[in-house]
Amino acid sequence: MPIRILPPEVAAKIAAGEVIERPLSVAKELLENAIDAGADEIHLEIVQGGRRLIRVADNGCGIPAAEVELAFARHATSKLSSAEELYQVRTLGFRGEALASIAAVSRLTLSTRARDEEVGTLIRLEGGTILGREAHGRMPGTTVQVENLFYNTPARLKFLRSEATEAGHVARLVSNYALAYPELRIVLQHNERLILRTQGNGALLDVLVTLYGLDVAEKMIAIPRPEGDKATLCVWGYIGAPELHRADRHDILFFVNRRWVQDSALTYAVTEAYRTLLPQGRYPMAVLNIALPPEDVDVNIHPTKREVRFRHEREVFTAVQRAIRTTLLAQHPVPMARGPFAPPAWQGHQPFARGRYLTPTQAQMALEVQRTGEMPAPTPIERPERLPMLRVLGQIAQSYIIAEGPGGMYLIDQHAAHERIRYEELKAQQGRSEVASQELLKPLPLELSPQQSILLEAHIGMLEPYGFEIIPFGGTTFLVKRVPANLVGEDITTALIEILNAALEGGQAFSWEEQILITLSCHTAVRAGQTLTLEEQRDLVRRLERATLPHTCPHGRPTVIHLSQERLEKEFGRR
Ligand code: ADP
Ligand code: MG
Repeated sequence: MPIRILPPEVAAKIAAGEVIERPLSVAKELLENAIDAGADEIHLEIVQGGRRLIRVADNGCGIPAAEVELAFARHATSKLSSAEELYQVRTLGFRGEALASIAAVSRLTLSTRARDEEVGTLIRLEGGTILGREAHGRMPGTTVQVENLFYNTPARLKFLRSEATEAGHVARLVSNYALAYPELRIVLQHNERLILRTQGNGALLDVLVTLYGLDVAEKMIAIPRPEGDKATLCVWGYIGAPELHRADRHDILFFVNRRWVQDSALTYAVTEAYRTLLPQGRYPMAVLNIALPPEDVDVNIHPTKREVRFRHEREVFTAVQRAIRTTLLAQHPVPMARGPFAPPAWQGHQPFARGRYLTPTQAQMALEVQRTGEMPAPTPIERPERLPMLRVLGQIAQSYIIAEGPGGMYLIDQHAAHERIRYEELKAQQGRSEVASQELLKPLPLELSPQQSILLEAHIGMLEPYGFEIIPFGGTTFLVKRVPANLVGEDITTALIEILNAALEGGQAFSWEEQILITLSCHTAVRAGQTLTLEEQRDLVRRLERATLPHTCPHGRPTVIHLSQERLEKEFGRR
């Protein structure tokens, strides 16, 4: 084929694809425009996860009637006038691409009135083509309505995920902007349900309460904003007390000059600052503002502006780490002493730790390496599917059961073993639809984050076969009315939040059934640190012997470590 210049509509679609990937991208660009316009009140509404409709209304400066068409031209912006200014950006937008890109892949209506003009303008576009404009009466401000996103790019449409997933992404975005701009009144509605409303009183702590609930917000520690010189690098915000640890890094947030950015190196700096204070594989919460002179940060490295580059990277990381470390030390002057025994409850209880677990074989090899300092020859250790009959001898550190069997000594992790037993029992009961369910005397209110609430609403039916009855109770609150009988008296809120967070993390590979079973078995299993009578120990071991896959817990950790007769003899120098 000869070389040709692409027709403008093809070029426009290609360019739009860089900026607008999914409903989240539309919401982000429109929200940023509203903030740049100096609005103090912003209403977002999405329908069907944003596929059907995304509407953002603000009370900002508006667009002058004479400039409305221009706003939709590519590279048209009021925020930048020279290349030098690119290194001094103080607004969220500057590329002049968003409106053009969104319009190219949707049916868009914009209504706007500049503050100093008498009448407003209404303009309609379809696939980037202007269909018409008219004078229009309205309050100062701008409303952009995006319908049928990707109607003309079917390939993009196919890549969209479920309504709840897409809406969840938007909810998280809006939540994060609410944290970055506590002085703005922000409202988010999904399918006419109110998902988020902030007061806009300027207090970051109040936004934390709205998003995470009072219990969590109370455990957040303030890093105050340094007084004085605004021209230098400074870090402030809130960080979670170590006990607020999470299964993933989603609640570590950075706002660089009030722009929400994702930065794995900064995230690492935060988790490092918490080192030794959190259980393995768990992550802290942090909402951190980083302010620095605009010329020291390059925001123009990605079309979606989700990443930035720092001129003095090390300094920024050091400032973040120092701010966190100083704050944590002031709160916890004496580092927790942690002996190998009497572990805190979590040590036997890390449902989503993503560290590498050892298989029984690997565990045995590790023990050997520790003792002898060298790798044993990789002789495959025979591992029967089922456990042999074991004679229980007693409990160690209130966490492990020691037993004797035909092949030598067995050490059983009581929590992991019980998890395996509960998992197989629940699965069998569920298959026979015999899960016992119990009504709570007092329904339990469940306060969720905007994103979690969207997910739960969409999947509420999936929890029913496991004995849950949960009903929406307005906004992001739900009422738990019935729970699986085994869960009565347990921390039901934590269990449900674990299921939801796993769903958020797991993406397409995620199976609700599996996660519900894992979480329920984990929460109903005996804990490490719990004293068991000899009778209880025997009962547990009997049930483990009957399990189909007795060697690992549902998370994949070993339940049993086996030291063979030969190993013992070798260790004692008898061989
Ligand atoms: P950018 O934000 O990078 O300048 P956009 O395509 O998002 O590019 O917007 C183009 C221009 O339209 C902006 O520079 C601004 O002048 C105007 N504009 C867009 N949205 C709004 C809004 N909500 N309020 C006022 N002006 C707006
Ligand atoms: Mg913009």
